[in-house]
Amino acid sequence: MALIAKKIKGTEDILPRDSYKWQFVEKILSDEARVYGFSEIRTPVFEQTKLFQRGVGEGTDVVQKEMYTFETKGGESLTLRPEGTAGAARALLEHGLYNDGLPIKAHYFTTCYRYEKPQAGRQREFHQFGMEVYGASDPIADAELICAAKSIFDRLGLFNIHLEINSIGCPECRKNYHKALKEYFSQYTDTLCGTCLSRLEKNPMRILDCKSPVCKEIAQNAPKITDFLCEDCDNHFKKVQQYLTAADVAFTVNSSIVRGLDYYTNTVFEFISDNIGAQSTVCGGGRYNGLMEELGGQPLASLGFAIGLERLLMVMDAEGIEIPKPETDMLYIAALGDKAQLKAFELVRTVRETGLGAQFDIVGRGLKAQMKYANKIGAKYSIVLGDNEIEEGKAILKNMESGNQTEVSIDDANIFIENLLAADLSDAVSFTE
Ligand code: ATP
Ligand code: MG
Repeated sequence: MALIAKKIKGTEDILPRDSYKWQFVEKILSDEARVYGFSEIRTPVFEQTKLFQRGVGEGTDVVQKEMYTFETKGGESLTLRPEGTAGAARALLEHGLYNDGLPIKAHYFTTCYRYEKPQAGRQREFHQFGMEVYGASDPIADAELICAAKSIFDRLGLFNIHLEINSIGCPECRKNYHKALKEYFSQYTDTLCGTCLSRLEKNPMRILDCKSPVCKEIAQNAPKITDFLCEDCDNHFKKVQQYLTAADVAFTVNSSIVRGLDYYTNTVFEFISDNIGAQSTVCGGGRYNGLMEELGGQPLASLGFAIGLERLLMVMDAEGIEIPKPETDMLYIAALGDKAQLKAFELVRTVRETGLGAQFDIVGRGLKAQMKYANKIGAKYSIVLGDNEIEEGKAILKNMESGNQTEVSIDDANIFIENLLAADLSDAVSFTE
């Protein structure tokens, strides 16, 4: 058999047997967002290319090498979103959400698209969960946002993740810093990689983010941004650290964190796993006070983070955290013969109307195979219908786990449901819940 199509390189299918893991994590993420007062925002999967060019930044790897950009039939350039912040920020400005009162707190679940070399923890289509705060300039907002990310990891039982923070200051502090970096890196023009050489003129801070081992080694002794912070930025960073300490959130200052996107100012941070190898940053975030103006809007101090969901699930797996399989309340009605099958068809519909799960045979299996199937799908209860049951208007409801049985009437739909709900099968909790 030759399939006519296969999945695109760097994409993954999430199959029915695994989707409960995603749903489990997504539920905790949205619940934590609710606790912190965030509401969900959903934006389109594609946007005008210029949104990302300006928002994410021309000098970044994302814009220079990784975007899926295409022209529409009308000749407009569109791009599949490579990240979630630019679209959310655009929506906020377009709908004037800042008029509703500040701060605005929004969270999102998105697919992202980046043309990268696929490897463990790095895909071309991947999923992010993000939290964004707009209109909050106080350093306590930075600390609160970091606490939100931390409490997500705590709730998931992930304790081998550490937090690294840095401040990359404001454009003013960066002027002097860029000068110092250029001077430093200019000594190494014959060893830096080609990409970093081109970064040297326009955006030398990007060199600190290079993944090449040679550039990484050179970057180790580069001047540190924290020595170049202006008084305001220095105070902001100190306060963030004080608040984190007050909240009992452990962190280390890592002056080489600059993040891969251009919109960051002041605080940047990463949560890094000790367990999943090279692609170990599970969460990246920070403050982006200049983004709104960059997009043509009014100045609005903002901040946010994004968690890569594939990496989050990888870390959970690596740490041996077992995600509980969803409880099933499924009733399986096995049937033998045409009359019984028709009855099963009618009864499952009645059961489903009450919100309970019910299934019967739709592929023409024999009775034995039907029961085997009921076991396979983890049915909690079963009923077997044959000519006798139809004639007598009664059947046996069985708890598949305990083997306990009780009689139920099958003639009248209402009585059947009453019997089901009243069935005392020792652990028949889901019928009575
Ligand atoms: P990296 O340095 O690993 O490339 P990044 O700085 O490009 O990450 P961000 O743009 O800040 O990452 O995205 C936030 C998070 O999204 C990352 O910490 C990571 O968990 C996840 N992520 C980023 N790119 C990918 C990808 N190609 N595949 C899977 N997850 C990704
Ligand atoms: Mg990247």
